[in-house]
Amino acid sequence: MLGSGIIKGMVETARNFVGSYIDPARLTTVEYPEERLLPKENARQFPFLLHDGLDPDAGLRCVACQICEKECPPQCILIVKDPVKKPDALGKMQFQPKVFNIDISVCMSCQICVEVCPFDAIKMDTEFELARTDRFGGLLLTKRELTKSNTHFQKIHPIDAAIVDGRLAADKAKAEAKARAAANAAASTPPQNS
Ligand code: SF4
Ligand code: SF4
Repeated sequence: MLGSGIIKGMVETARNFVGSYIDPARLTTVEYPEERLLPKENARQFPFLLHDGLDPDAGLRCVACQICEKECPPQCILIVKDPVKKPDALGKMQFQPKVFNIDISVCMSCQICVEVCPFDAIKMDTEFELARTDRFGGLLLTKRELTKSNTHFQKIHPIDAAIVDGRLAADKAKAEAKARAAANAAASTPPQNS
């Protein structure tokens, strides 16, 4: 029958409207900003950079490989590599970005930067209250504003964070075992006579 879909939709809306007075679980909206819903685990807004440990500079996971910058469809990431290597959270010498900016007025939240990053250094944040009074510079987020701790990642995406933490711990254990094996091999090699 013509219009039956519209009638079905209106019946469903009326059912939910009346039902919400009886069953609070049917209340699907809240009075924002006084009330807020917790972001869902799979919510994504804009990217942020991760750091391990307490120091955002020393613990920054990003090694300025620039893969995300090249792959970002609207080209809203700008990275300038620092030519001087610095020790990372594990004491390994790594490059870092001197500049890492994301223009979130251009970013389309596609998450491609997250998917291409080989170092789990960039993830999607759930923060959405990003309105600024500065129209021209306010939405260009700098390295300082983008960098957040792994604890933040564990809080907003606990399932993903547990997978990443497990993977990084396994990689670290493998690297340590390799270094120990190399040290043992070096110690057991007899010195060469000259
Ligand atoms: S989410 Fe997409 S558009 Fe935004 S910075 Fe990452 S790759 Fe670029
Ligand atoms: S966020 Fe990842 S992909 Fe982008 S530059 Fe840093 S390490 Fe490379």
